[in-house]
Amino acid sequence: MTENNELIRSSAATLAGKLAAREVSAVEVTQAHLDRIAAVDGKVHAFLHVNTDEALAVAAEVDAIRAAGGPAAQELHALAGVPIAVKDLIVTVGQPTTAGSKILEGWHSPYDATVVKRLRAAKMPILGKTNLDEFAMGSSTEHSAFGPTHNPWDLDRIPGGSGGGSAAAVAAFEAPLALGTDTGGSIRQPGAVTGTVGVKPTYGGVSRYGAIAMASSLDQIGPVSRTVLDSALLHQVIGGHDPHDSTSLPDPLEDLVAAASIGNVHGMRIGIIKELHGEGYQTGVENRFNESLELLKSAGAEIVEVSCPNFKYALGAYYLIMPSEASSNLAKFDGVRYGLRVLPEDGPMTIERVMGATRAAGFGDEVKRRIILGTYALSAGYYDAYYGSAQKVRTLIQRDFDAAFAKADVLISPTAPTTAFKLGEKLNDPLAMYLNDVATIPANMAGVPGLSLPGGLADEDGLPVGVQLLAPARQDARLYRVGAVLESLLEAQWGGPLLDRAPSLTEPSPGTPSLADPALNDTVASHGGSH
Ligand code: GLN
Repeated sequence: MTENNELIRSSAATLAGKLAAREVSAVEVTQAHLDRIAAVDGKVHAFLHVNTDEALAVAAEVDAIRAAGGPAAQELHALAGVPIAVKDLIVTVGQPTTAGSKILEGWHSPYDATVVKRLRAAKMPILGKTNLDEFAMGSSTEHSAFGPTHNPWDLDRIPGGSGGGSAAAVAAFEAPLALGTDTGGSIRQPGAVTGTVGVKPTYGGVSRYGAIAMASSLDQIGPVSRTVLDSALLHQVIGGHDPHDSTSLPDPLEDLVAAASIGNVHGMRIGIIKELHGEGYQTGVENRFNESLELLKSAGAEIVEVSCPNFKYALGAYYLIMPSEASSNLAKFDGVRYGLRVLPEDGPMTIERVMGATRAAGFGDEVKRRIILGTYALSAGYYDAYYGSAQKVRTLIQRDFDAAFAKADVLISPTAPTTAFKLGEKLNDPLAMYLNDVATIPANMAGVPGLSLPGGLADEDGLPVGVQLLAPARQDARLYRVGAVLESLLEAQWGGPLLDRAPSLTEPSPGTPSLADPALNDTVASHGGSH
């Protein structure tokens, strides 16, 4: 298996430039990534499905259009021919969508998500569908019914979650770009622990039509990439109004690519959130965070401190609102309409008993835990005490953000309190798992946009640390502006991209007999059992 190192290590922006200049063909670029997937995904397990034939066909179409020249070639999108991976919570025609659950095994969506339609309109080859915690519930991708994804920095560690597959695919150079979904941090936290960039856009800024709903008032689709500019490029493809999503904002999309190219933060006020660092954060995370503050200060930004006293209730309120909405959203997986159907072993064959048997066999433990929690929180007598109070906390969090944004243009915090932990370490301790989202959840509760970018490696363990930027709703452009400046300052300090320091994954390691997994192509790969 030959690997084209230069192509797989290029950013999407670089690939777009090479494709436009016809220095390389879209088929070559796509094939290089498919080869990389074949070479390393047996170890990483970022993909649940690889879409070889269709990806190559789209790439060939782009090459044919470019070769013919004329207006059709002129009209090609800048990212035409740049391949992308899609989180398997987002529905696609022609490929399976599992949501990481046995309950959807074998199901094919009859329609494309709006974001997928937009990728197709831009003629970006879709490499396949990436692994996730079942129905996006988790922070480690260990709750996938198809086995965990491994962190490319250390294969014994988690890649974050729920979008660990998308983050690991991009970190392992299997894809230059990916789509994720973020309900409480599932784009940003995997970005932090894999050394990649992840953006949760403003709520309503990217259509949710075709993202299997987890908690509809919190869910948001967004970009995953290796550079801030690449996320801006992808955000520009998927963002903007969609009549199919009733919560989609009517505003025209800002020029995010231009924002990522401004190149200065002079006079910008950057607010440190007092409640989101310090106690409970790993020393190496805190050190890298402080370095980023120094760099921004040296670039002319003004660093201020803000306090968001109600953020301490965010996690508790989230774990009432999120399960409440999920318990309702997941009621449709009933053994009648989608995927799996399990018949009761004995006794009468009633519809309720078929639903019960299907849901018992089809859902994993974490999904069941949240359905039970949500159903309880919404039940008569408890609704006001739990769900009602949580909604009030949500308003208080929004007010904290309003007050903070009166003092600062952008807020900053570590993305996650620790670096990647070991697989299995928190699997049987749901509360420890939930704590990973302490810094990412407030943004979802208020609908504001957030971006995580690599801030360096922690001193203790040499693993990536994430820095999170937050902006007021509809001001996503500010994240790209500050993010791009901070990224370039950090890279100058490191002498190149952080991911250059990650293991190659193709050096033979003792006890690893085979690198390629031929069974992966065009099948739903089922590694390991369910949890
Ligand atoms: N880890 C969080 C949870 O388990 C966030 C999930 C997400 O953003 N999809 O709910």
